[in-house]
Amino acid sequence: MSPSLNDSQLLKSQAYVGGEWAPAGAGATFPVINPATGEALGTVPDMTAVDARQAIAAAEEAFPEWRAMPARKRSKLLRKWYDLITEHADDLGRLLTAEQGKPHAEARGEVLGGAAYVEWFAEEAKRIDGDLLPPQGPGQRELVLKQPVGVVGAITPWNFPSSMITRKVSPALAAGCPVVIKPAEDTPLSALALAELAYRAGIPAGVVNVITASHGAEVGGELATNSKVRKLSFTGSTAVGKLLMSQASDTVKKISLELGGNAPFLVFEDADLDAAVQAATMMKFINSGQTCICVNRLMVHEKVYDAFMDKFTAAVDQLNVGNGAEKGVTTGPLINDKGLQKVESLVSDALHHGATPVRGGQRHELGRTFYQPTVLADVNPDMACFGNEIFGPVAPVYRFSSEEEAVRLANDTPYGLASYFFTRDAGRMWRVGEALEYGMVACNTARFVHEGMPFGGFKESGIGREGSKYGIEEYLETKFLCMGGL
Ligand code: NAP
Repeated sequence: MSPSLNDSQLLKSQAYVGGEWAPAGAGATFPVINPATGEALGTVPDMTAVDARQAIAAAEEAFPEWRAMPARKRSKLLRKWYDLITEHADDLGRLLTAEQGKPHAEARGEVLGGAAYVEWFAEEAKRIDGDLLPPQGPGQRELVLKQPVGVVGAITPWNFPSSMITRKVSPALAAGCPVVIKPAEDTPLSALALAELAYRAGIPAGVVNVITASHGAEVGGELATNSKVRKLSFTGSTAVGKLLMSQASDTVKKISLELGGNAPFLVFEDADLDAAVQAATMMKFINSGQTCICVNRLMVHEKVYDAFMDKFTAAVDQLNVGNGAEKGVTTGPLINDKGLQKVESLVSDALHHGATPVRGGQRHELGRTFYQPTVLADVNPDMACFGNEIFGPVAPVYRFSSEEEAVRLANDTPYGLASYFFTRDAGRMWRVGEALEYGMVACNTARFVHEGMPFGGFKESGIGREGSKYGIEEYLETKFLCMGGL
């Protein structure tokens, strides 16, 4: 059953290519399922590489006019898109909850947080400046120009079906690039609703295209290998990111990768425990643990371990698992069976190797892909949950005995996306803040994401940054222009 929307036109069953709502060339479709109920919300086109090539051609055709449009005008169109997204935030949130499972308040928050990137880059569109260099010879002028890179391929995951799209599309559009978006198989409806609003905002045909597919590899592979695509921006797992990086190397594309994480959350002996518990609970269980910056390894100093555990388990007891469309629910289902099986296997490995399930540890009685909020004690770095992204509502709590050990354990991973630590010692704030090998470090807070900060990872968590004044660079080429004989 589809969610009841104030504006029923936001629920789409076709893809958006060259300004037209289109079926797959071969006519195939696939269903979109509500993970909380198992009901089909509708169907969308199951597109192939042939459809992807058509969308890329439509974007290429739109490029000359879009890049030539004065920045102020592009900015106004983005601003209009922002206004429409915020105006329809309730509907977009309902749609997101229905296809993804997160509670409505979280979903609406994602929509508005994602819209903030559109507003930000509407402004940045007007600030793409070049440079005039001191000339090296007489009668010579030397300039640095910033130019749009060209057609952008954007491949996005299911855990943030709305904001992962606006984060990529708004800087691309601001820079003068058209985009072909391939949303995740599980969550194409949010992407299509955003395309409908882009159309209503007056963004020209071919500048925003959305192609849906049940086989990410075929359509995503086309975006990664097609020579007309000059930039690939991917958010998703590290494994697929590595594959796309190698595929994109043949045509030497500009590339941005926002990949997996393995966030440590360090609680030192001098921490404000109440604040740490509140932040850990929020950042572990938000989106049922299915967030790249979710706490993956809770590490607590041995002197405060027991006190922390008492408070933390009490906070976890307050979580309310259920259908995200219902009032009071804090924790929705996992996205699909694959996600559930991964969580089960990591918990089973930990229990097998001696971990104690202080809370949960099993599927939830609601069935389907619901999982109990889980706290594991007596965990150690040899367990699989130490090195793998759990992506579920499971909090393994490790012990450490010194700052040096905590930092070493925190950095003992190929990932480097987000990290957290709680301490009241000002010297330690600097030492640990600088020592953590992560793109994003949060001290005494877990709320740090907004459109004005550079989001991205070190090491195998990615390449490039989204948001902030740095984000638009990902969609620009730097050209040196030297004019002599003047
Ligand atoms: P995923 O399996 O890598 O899928 C991401 C996207 O890639 C989907 O659109 C998927 O399509 C597509 N895809 C899958 N296989 C492909 C292939 N062989 N070639 C081209 N495209 C392919 O990741 P996910 O499970 O959806 O998302 C969860 C992951 O994303 C986690 O690791 C999480 O940490 C990461 N993430 C990172 C950030 C960040 O900013 N760093 C943000 C959010 C999520 P299908 O859906 O059709 O398979």
